[in-house]
Amino acid sequence: MQTHLNIRGLVIRETALHDADKLIDLLTENGIRTVQAKSARKQGSKYGAVTQLFAYGDFCLRCSSGKYYLDSAVSLNLFYGLRNDLEALALASYFSELIRRTMTDQPQPQLLRLFLLSLHHLSEHSRPAALVKSIFELRLMTELGVMPDLLCCKECLTFLPEHPVLRIQQADLICRDCNPVPEPDELDVPQAVLHAARHVVFSEYNKLFQFRLKGQSAEIFSQYAERYLLERLGMNFPTLKFYHQLADSSIAPQ
Ligand SMILES: [Zn+2]
Repeated sequence: MQTHLNIRGLVIRETALHDADKLIDLLTENGIRTVQAKSARKQGSKYGAVTQLFAYGDFCLRCSSGKYYLDSAVSLNLFYGLRNDLEALALASYFSELIRRTMTDQPQPQLLRLFLLSLHHLSEHSRPAALVKSIFELRLMTELGVMPDLLCCKECLTFLPEHPVLRIQQADLICRDCNPVPEPDELDVPQAVLHAARHVVFSEYNKLFQFRLKGQSAEIFSQYAERYLLERLGMNFPTLKFYHQLADSSIAPQ
């Protein structure tokens, strides 16, 4: 018996199959659907563009024997700005790996929203790529329910310490005056970084990317978001290593 399903989704992985077919993983509000797209790799295929990596569209699927097959599709956004920007593409691939390896069976519509907003800013270059990366990492932790407790210093309950310290392992905030001896898992941060981290953890989605960080604060915020994510997830990400190879070599002196 065959059934049909109309879904809106983002292609987060594509795998080549025989006979110019391909498999695509679609991130939807209800999780990930793996779909076989017949002849989509053929030159001039009607659905070549909408089934490419990081295409967002409406997909009409046929379900047969527990598998999904593509019947038709219409693209909503192909994020053209990603296509000729290797660093942005590397980051999008990292986001995809993060989503695929942390997604549960529960519907998580906010993950699709976070991914689409991040792709928008990468594609339009409307925010620095490193900042988009940090926002994605820290907000993903919020959506997975493992965000840091940044309300106030754990010891003295000061809301805005003069010398804030973000602890990675304990996932909290202290002030340097309360804990004069630095530990390896602590980051001394400017107040601007504490404000930024709070914003990313607590903000509504329509304001999530609406802030700026400059110079050293931007650098420290990047370190914090990445270290925090790696500590919470306890995994290695090949796509993150690849991104750093690209990004770090592009800022090396000539
Ligand atoms: Zn304190």
